[in-house]
Amino acid sequence: MTTPALILDDVRVSYGDGDSEVHALDGVSLTVNPGEFVAVVGPSGSGKSTLLAVAGALTTPDSGRVAVAGEKITGLADAELARVRREHIGFVFQSSGNLPSALRARDQLELAARILGRRGRRSNDELLEAVGMAHRASHRPAALSGGERQRIGIARALVGGPDLLLVDEPTAALDRQRAHEIVALLAEECHELGVAGVMVTHDLEVIAHCDRVLQMVDGRLSARD
Ligand code: ADP
Ligand code: MG
Repeated sequence: MTTPALILDDVRVSYGDGDSEVHALDGVSLTVNPGEFVAVVGPSGSGKSTLLAVAGALTTPDSGRVAVAGEKITGLADAELARVRREHIGFVFQSSGNLPSALRARDQLELAARILGRRGRRSNDELLEAVGMAHRASHRPAALSGGERQRIGIARALVGGPDLLLVDEPTAALDRQRAHEIVALLAEECHELGVAGVMVTHDLEVIAHCDRVLQMVDGRLSARD
């Protein structure tokens, strides 16, 4: 039996108290298997970012159970959570505007590998090739388009060979065609590498590339009809 890359079991996160209490996650359960690319859609304020923060070992839930790559992470100390992130999780952000500006594409990946202290089975050159950026390996971020920067951001997130890829609004800064290309690339990489992907998005156009689409409303997750 395969070990799920991510298990959330009846996870609850609240902010504030009394009349102002907000249930950002109100009993969320989710299992994502290796090689599966899942989309989570939902309106602003519905809890999507909180879901990614919990799955990414960045926020500890008030209650419920979280396991990443077979390891139960609820109850771990901060240093252990940081290790879980390094060993198992890759993050892709909204616009990859956070790439260090002085570094060429190839060196962005090298820096990420050094910070992580680990490397997946693909070399940096293989990763650049996989995201269609081999011909831009010596370019710095300023010389790249938004879509190209996002490709580097995806390659960087895969450097450590993660089990789980967490993706927050990856198409927010892209035109339609680039958006499709980037999400298709994410799906392809998850399938090919056996990585479990969870992508939060409000871009309903791109969810056709996903294996499963879930909907978040007021902190509750359900299958999208
Ligand atoms: P989404 O990403 O879907 O827009 P969030 O997960 O960011 O939703 O937020 C869910 C709810 O939790 C919202 O009502 C938001 O205002 C609230 N919330 C999120 N983070 C905090 C925080 N650090 N402090 C207080 N309330 C928060
Ligand atoms: Mg959000």
